[in-house]
Amino acid sequence: MALLDRALVRLLPAVPRPVVRRVSSRYIAGEELSDAVRVVRQLNAEGKLATIDVLGEEITNADEARAIGDAYRDSLDAFEREQLDSNVSVKLTALGLKLGYELCRENLEAVVAHAAERGNFVRIDMEDSSTTEDTLRLYRELRAAGHENVGIVLQARLKRTLADVAALAGLRPNVRLCKGIYLEPAEIAFREFDAIRVSFVQVLHALWDAGCYVGVATHDEWLLEEAKRGVDARSLGRDEHEFQMLLGVRPALGDELVREGRRLRIYTPFGRQWYAYSLRRLQENPKIAGYIAGDTLNRLLPGRNGSG
Ligand SMILES: Cc1cc2nc3c(=O)[nH]c(=O)nc-3n(C[C@H](O)[C@H](O)[C@H](O)COP(=O)(O)OP(=O)(O)OC[C@H]3O[C@@H](n4cnc5c(N)ncnc54)[C@H](O)[C@@H]3O)c2cc1C
Repeated sequence: MALLDRALVRLLPAVPRPVVRRVSSRYIAGEELSDAVRVVRQLNAEGKLATIDVLGEEITNADEARAIGDAYRDSLDAFEREQLDSNVSVKLTALGLKLGYELCRENLEAVVAHAAERGNFVRIDMEDSSTTEDTLRLYRELRAAGHENVGIVLQARLKRTLADVAALAGLRPNVRLCKGIYLEPAEIAFREFDAIRVSFVQVLHALWDAGCYVGVATHDEWLLEEAKRGVDARSLGRDEHEFQMLLGVRPALGDELVREGRRLRIYTPFGRQWYAYSLRRLQENPKIAGYIAGDTLNRLLPGRNGSG
């Protein structure tokens, strides 16, 4: 990342919210369920599947956590009604994890049961390392309670992940594998770009060795090529794995996967609590300075159009 971009990443929390809002709009379907439905319909028409994320990490009380659960149930109903191909991704903090484990479990189980009644699936996103233990514990408890339509996320960045794969292998979990976005201390996480890549490939093969369905979630071309090689070498069918990308990130690369006949799912967030998610996406954008500058120019020079 260029010097200016790196400096801006640090300064981003000081950027006014309206600017963050405008420059991050490409990463978010909109504020309402109708926005998510419109975007999912478009993705489906392009031959892509979706998983929706009701934005809600900033909740502060149990009622808000329950409201997020309601929004997920409404989303699942809408997908069934509109015959859209999308599952849901939930963040446990949005379902109340930091307010209480039992509250979160109740909310999560209600969403998972609602999805099961509609033949749908729930992915539990993985958040920062303060939540890893509880997330894996909740996943195990749900599986022990007989819920099969639920999957987890593992982060290649964390040093513990290979051991987690070994510990979970008996359950043959459905796993989304990603690099992991949260910066973690060096004692528990790889910090070097190449070390994270190596870990990603090792974990991917360990999951495949355990017979797991893996959603390979990355926009890193080198990793995509490694994963495709693995898929071909293992003769994995279209129903035995998938690729996953984020809405608004490297769409041309996603189109290429679809053209190759591969199964691609797009992570599609919507909701009113867009700020924390937007910051994370912008901080990962290698050309963030260009985006902010473009937005500023647009406002200074009325009539100018087309910033990202
Ligand atoms: C479907 C999906 C679900 C995810 N779920 C989780 C989760 O539950 N927990 C978690 O910790 N992380 C999650 N992540 C985020 C993930 O951990 C990474 O932080 C993120 O995907 C960037 O890593 P990368 O593998 O794409 O590689 P990178 O090396 O970071 O990116 C590869 C290239 O993609 C481009 N790119 C990446 N991000 C952006 C951006 N925001 N804007 C523009 N270009 C960009 C850049 O050109 C970059 O060179 C998820 C990612 C995906 C795709």
